[in-house]
Amino acid sequence: MISSEVKVMKNYIGNKWVESSGREMVDIPNPATGETIAQVALSEKEDVDRAVAAAKEAYGHWSTVPVPNRARYLFQYLQLLKEHKAELAKIITLENGKSLRDAEGEVQRGIEVVELATSTPNLMMGDALPSIAKGIDGSIWRYPLGVVAGITPFNFPMMVPLWMYPLAIACGNTFVLKTSERTPILAERLVDLFYQSGFPEGVLNLVHGAKDVVNGLLDHPDIEAISFVGSEPVAKHVYQTGTANGKRVQALAGAKNHAVVMPDCDLEKTVQGVIGAAFGSSGERCMACSVVAVVDDIADDFLDLLTSETKKLKAGDGMDESTFVGPVIRESHKEKVISYIDSGVEEGADLLVDGRYIEEETPDGYYVGATIFDHVTPNMKIWQDEIFAPVLSVVRVKDLEAGIALTNQSKFANGAVIYTSSGKYAQIFREKIDAGMVGVNVNVPAPMAFFAFAGNKASFYGDLGTNGKDGVQFYTRKKVVTERWF
Ligand code: NAD
Repeated sequence: MISSEVKVMKNYIGNKWVESSGREMVDIPNPATGETIAQVALSEKEDVDRAVAAAKEAYGHWSTVPVPNRARYLFQYLQLLKEHKAELAKIITLENGKSLRDAEGEVQRGIEVVELATSTPNLMMGDALPSIAKGIDGSIWRYPLGVVAGITPFNFPMMVPLWMYPLAIACGNTFVLKTSERTPILAERLVDLFYQSGFPEGVLNLVHGAKDVVNGLLDHPDIEAISFVGSEPVAKHVYQTGTANGKRVQALAGAKNHAVVMPDCDLEKTVQGVIGAAFGSSGERCMACSVVAVVDDIADDFLDLLTSETKKLKAGDGMDESTFVGPVIRESHKEKVISYIDSGVEEGADLLVDGRYIEEETPDGYYVGATIFDHVTPNMKIWQDEIFAPVLSVVRVKDLEAGIALTNQSKFANGAVIYTSSGKYAQIFREKIDAGMVGVNVNVPAPMAFFAFAGNKASFYGDLGTNGKDGVQFYTRKKVVTERWF
């Protein structure tokens, strides 16, 4: 069904909203209702060329604006984003489906990156060491790169773009953003508010589209660096093609995050933590908890409480305040998730909570309820693959070492968490677990913006993560100066 006022999303290039030259049009449904709420044209190479040209033109001026002045524009942007928090969260829920509470959390996490970017005058500072030899001084200076592109996924329409352009722009770069063609709506408000903050034209450009836009950016000679966040195969492609074309690339990829539950944990808090991490945002988080390795001694108690609490969670429209599990992003994704749940049953796992059959209450949305499997083993697809849905696999292990060894078999290594009251267990976990982001009794160990964000193994292609000092290093190049004056 198409509502009477379907908006066609536009690109923002230079100083105005422009129609895409793409002929292929994609419907954007509200995942909660299936109703088409917007359409987006898949842009083509000429749109990319125009956006890059506008960013390149703007770079000449923007890179010479003093760093504190660049930061002042961001203070203004920060203010506007804060004033529009509620509106931004509603747009996220409308186009992505996650509950309003999760959307509000996302808005806040995005704003925190803009806060970080306002401190660029500190973060971008170089180093100096006078008198490195008689009459000679040494120093390191940091400079922007030029035009930078950002390619983002559907699951965080606000936070992930904000991981990229505020810091890149604060460092003196200009930017071309390509958000997910499945969630293109919020970007319009982000760009509007950006220019309301007074930024000069061309500093941030937006091109809607899909893989042709990505490949156009990867091949474009005037793009110096690419920030990518999305699924593993695409991250690998972006990293390999971008670096082969001489670009700097950071490509944050897919995940399968594990928690290890020890017998000495606080059972109630652990269950609440696992529920939030596994089923919040309908499991469509790169930091979602997808596997729990629970030590035998506490496994039955843990599963009894986890199952009974999970059965209380309401699946429904994210706009409804009582909803915990919103819809997944598309009907096709729902079908894929259901086929994963079917495969878990066929491969012999015990299905304790079944989220497949909740259609009757919500006929046109893309709903999958919270789902829990027990007695999962690492040879099963539900253990191995990123399902990206509210589907949790529980594996019983004999002790901490077994839990760590099992977790480290995953091809992904984004986040991992231990629930325990033992400092010793936590220390062993921290040392032996292979994950880029580690938590102790925290549900989702997503770092705050002033730390770097990135995984290991197949969860990340690149060297420098997003945010924190890594982000500043990624968006700048160095000159080391050795000088002597006669
Ligand atoms: P996706 O890979 O389908 O899309 C990401 C971006 O790549 C989009 O802008 C899309 O248009 C583009 N794209 C898709 N297919 C392409 C192709 N064949 N060639 C070139 N470009 C292509 O990812 P998604 O489904 O939108 O997002 C979910 C994924 O993102 C999950 O795997 C999740 O774990 C991952 N993710 C990772 C992190 C992290 O920090 N590691 C954060 C958020 C999401």
